[in-house]
Amino acid sequence: MGKLKSKLGIDLGGTKIEGLLTDKSGKQIKRVRVKTPRESYGDIINAIANLVSELASAPDLPVGVGMPGSISPATGRVRNSNILALNQKLFSEDLEKALRRPVRVENDANCFTISESTDGAGEKANSVFGVILGTGVGGGISINSKIVGGKNSIAGEWGHNPLPKIKTHQSDRQCYCGRTNCVETWLSGPGLSRTYRSSSKKDLLAEQIVKLYEAGDKNAIETFSAFFDQLASALSVVTNILDPEIIVLGGGLSNIQSIYTEIPYRLEKLAFSDHFRTKIVKAKHGDSSGVRGAAWLW
Ligand SMILES: [Zn+2]
Repeated sequence: MGKLKSKLGIDLGGTKIEGLLTDKSGKQIKRVRVKTPRESYGDIINAIANLVSELASAPDLPVGVGMPGSISPATGRVRNSNILALNQKLFSEDLEKALRRPVRVENDANCFTISESTDGAGEKANSVFGVILGTGVGGGISINSKIVGGKNSIAGEWGHNPLPKIKTHQSDRQCYCGRTNCVETWLSGPGLSRTYRSSSKKDLLAEQIVKLYEAGDKNAIETFSAFFDQLASALSVVTNILDPEIIVLGGGLSNIQSIYTEIPYRLEKLAFSDHFRTKIVKAKHGDSSGVRGAAWLW
């Protein structure tokens, strides 16, 4: 937690940018939120600068920023971000210039996993796989309370492997990253909307489909049945490689209660084991985990 008197975190998401100021123990002092101007890099930098000046009175307080994608260790530039305006930009440097204070940038799923493995749902576990099911799909790995970054800074980037199990009546999906059938194209909010559209011919947001599912709508039930199969098959790959003690889910789609009853028995059948004890739980700090983890980068 360091020696700072307070902590400042920014969670840059595909839909919103959230800022959080906490005291040194992590208790919230102030929180602000704005819509992400995702089409313009300059507007994103300005929006973050406005949030920071609204939150921080101390001019030298450093900032931790979580964002989709990561900074390439080879070039220092952003790559793999589903906020396309960030890609190839010197985001960390540009932010430091705009904010005139030190900045640390980290992948958003890693920030989420820092928060949940430190004092969240994965607090007592030796190994945690943190998953974000939101506008995008990402993952983070924590072993003995330390984030595993990886040689190429891509550890946990499970959203851009191909989904192992796709129902044959559904057609291939192109991902913004250039690959086909990435996990993200199926398990993100927009991916869920696409699955729903293929059976209902209706264009709805993920949260509207969730409401229909809870109300017993036939197409929504079919969509979620496919979603649960897809999520279990994608997690079976993680389980067979990492075999984490606990899988913590965050992001908008993690709020669907049925996930926590529907996934374990599906995953049990797919994992290469005679028993299955892995816990699959919802994030303790909900939507706040990303921004909390970002604040704790210092
Ligand atoms: Zn992809």
